[in-house]
Parts: sequence; C-alpha cells; structure tokens
Amino acid sequence: MDSITAYDAIVIGAGPAGSTAALYAARASLDVLVIEQGMPGGQIATSDMVDNYPGIPNVSGAELGQKMLDHAESAGAHVEYTMVTSISRRDDGRYEVVTDSGAFEAPALIVATGATPRTAGFVGEEEFRGRGVSYCATCDGMFYRNKKVFVVGGGNSACEEGLFLSRIASEVVMVVRRDEFRAPRGRVDRLLAQKNVSVRFSTSIVEVTGTQLLERIVFRDNVSGETSVEEYPAGSFGIFVFTGNDPVTELVHALVDVAADGGVVTDEDMATRTPGLFCAGDMRSKRLRQVVTAASDGAIAGSSAYAYVEGLAR
Ligand SMILES: Cc1cc2nc3c(=O)[nH]c(=O)nc-3n(C[C@H](O)[C@H](O)[C@H](O)COP(=O)(O)OP(=O)(O)OC[C@H]3O[C@@H](n4cnc5c(N)ncnc54)[C@H](O)[C@@H]3O)c2cc1C
Repeated sequence: MDSITAYDAIVIGAGPAGSTAALYAARASLDVLVIEQGMPGGQIATSDMVDNYPGIPNVSGAELGQKMLDHAESAGAHVEYTMVTSISRRDDGRYEVVTDSGAFEAPALIVATGATPRTAGFVGEEEFRGRGVSYCATCDGMFYRNKKVFVVGGGNSACEEGLFLSRIASEVVMVVRRDEFRAPRGRVDRLLAQKNVSVRFSTSIVEVTGTQLLERIVFRDNVSGETSVEEYPAGSFGIFVFTGNDPVTELVHALVDVAADGGVVTDEDMATRTPGLFCAGDMRSKRLRQVVTAASDGAIAGSSAYAYVEGLAR
C-alpha cells in the first residue's frame, strides 16, 4: 500500500474560509495541511478590487487571498497544491483524503470548497467578467454609483440585489427570462416600489460586446424571438447576473445533509452530522456569501476542529 501522510487536521480549499480555518487550527497547535487545487483566495482571487473587508479597503482579491494563506503558513500550516478527488471516513473514525498527488489522513477534516456563481450564458459574458459584467452587488455595486445597471434574474437573490443596487445606481432594469418573478410577493413589491426600477419580462440578454468595457447589449424577446440592440458609452452601465450560486459539495455528499439552497447544513460550530467533519464558507447553506462571512466560518471551524481533536467538543 502507498504511504499515507498523517496530520491532526486537513483543510480542503484555500479560499477565505479554508485559509482562516487553517490559521486558527495551526495557532491552536494542530499539525494542519491545506489542500488547494488552484490559486489561494478561491473566488476572491478573480476580483480586481475588494472594498468591503473590514480594515483592508481597496485591496486586490488575489493579494487578499494570498495574504490569508501566507498568514496560515506563517502559523505553521502546510500547503499542497493538488486536487482532492475523494474523501472517506474509515472504521477507526479517521478521514482519508485522496488527491491527484497522494493520500493524507487526519482525525478532523474541514471542507471549504466554496461555491460557483451560475452564469447567464450570453455571448461575451466570460470576456467582460469584471469589465462590466458582475456577480456580486455587495462587492461591485459602488462602481456603478449613479450609473445604469441591468440585473439578470427573477428569483430571490436577483430581487434582493436589485433592491440593493437601486440605492446606488441611477437606474435599475430587471431582465427577467420568464413572464413573472420567482421571488415572494413582498420582496417583489418592495423592489418595484423603487422609482428607479423597471422590469423587462420575457427578455434575455443574448450577447454583449465592447472594446475595453461593455458598450453594446443584444436583447431577445422570448415570446416573439426578436432581437434588439442597445448601445451606451463605455463605463456608463453594467450588468449584474444573479441566476444563483452552486455550492461545491460533491466531495462530502454522502456524509452531510444538504439544504434546499444546495448548501451543506452545519450547526453553529460548523459541525456536520458526521463526527470530525466540519464545513465552512460558501459551500454552507447561508444567506450572505462574502469574504468576511467565509473567514468567520473558517475561524469557527478551525477552533472546532481543535476542540474535536483534543476531545473537548461540546
Ligand atoms: C467575481 C467575484 C467577486 C467577489 N467580490 C467580493 C467582494 O468584493 N467582497 C466579498 O466579501 N466577497 C466577494 N465575493 C464573494 C467571495 O469571493 C466569496 O464569498 C468567498 O471567496 C468564499 O470563500 P470560500 O473560502 O468559502 O470559498 P471559495 O472562495 O470558493 O474557495 C474555495 C476553494 O476551494 C478550492 N477547491 C474546491 N474544490 C477543491 C478540490 N476538490 N480540491 C482542492 N481544492 C478545491 C477552490 O479551488 C477554491 O480555491 C466575490 C465573488 C466573486 C465570484
């Protein structure tokens, strides 16, 4: 049998949740391994500017993510850059984590594999991501102060974020694929009560173009099938896509409960229904998916893993 390296705790994912979990567990003197398949920082590494992490305004997402992992490493955490392909809980209660480059084991496992924002699927969406196309109003809304924004989506999060943007932008146009919203009536009514909010039902964005920034949107009327083009000066408008988030939970499916929003159910210690398995960050069932809430989850998970390993769990 191939050799397997043992740690006190293993953290999967070096986004804000995983790096913070590793920091807290390492500072509690656990021997911790963090496994990351991509860049430190996870989703936030793709954001040019983070302006709402308390105490560190105007920081690039890549820098913030790197600093969080560096902090954990300076506290003693080890890092492996590889993809976790499976996890299992052995009969002795220890977790075995198999990766592309070897296997590891530990009595406590913290999974912080994050979430992926769903795309709307229009042509040019990926090309203009961060250059006019955004997936986070809390993060990027301020860049559109007194500008026009289009909000794609008709569900809960689209209505909530549309309301948030109506207080910042000069005009909010909701672009709803169907002929009605899928959010509760009260939420829709609050949104539509705003004077600067309008709705285009049965409409989809099919393409965006521009040079550096967005300049042109092609809309499709989903009833007639006809398309129409609108042009605006570069930098004068943006598109926010809120068609949902998919928590990344495949690795733990067999060991946890999953809520209706697709996120993992934990208690307030980040514990799942399986002893020694903790989940933190955007992969959890939660309302606010942000760096600060992911870091908070991570701190709790790291501390809970320590208590579990030391036999101090509540
Ligand atoms: C474009 C964009 C801009 C944003 N801007 C802001 C902002 O300004 N402010 C703010 O507070 N929030 C912002 N957010 C939200 C914020 O990035 C997330 O809430 C936060 O990153 C969640 O942290 P996390 O650690 O839970 O998950 P993630 O950041 O998703 O990290 C999960 C990590 O797990 C790794 N992973 C997954 N599966 C495996 C595997 N099998 N093996 C190994 N590694 C794995 C991934 O590679 C990833 O690095 C933004 C999000 C996006 C998409």
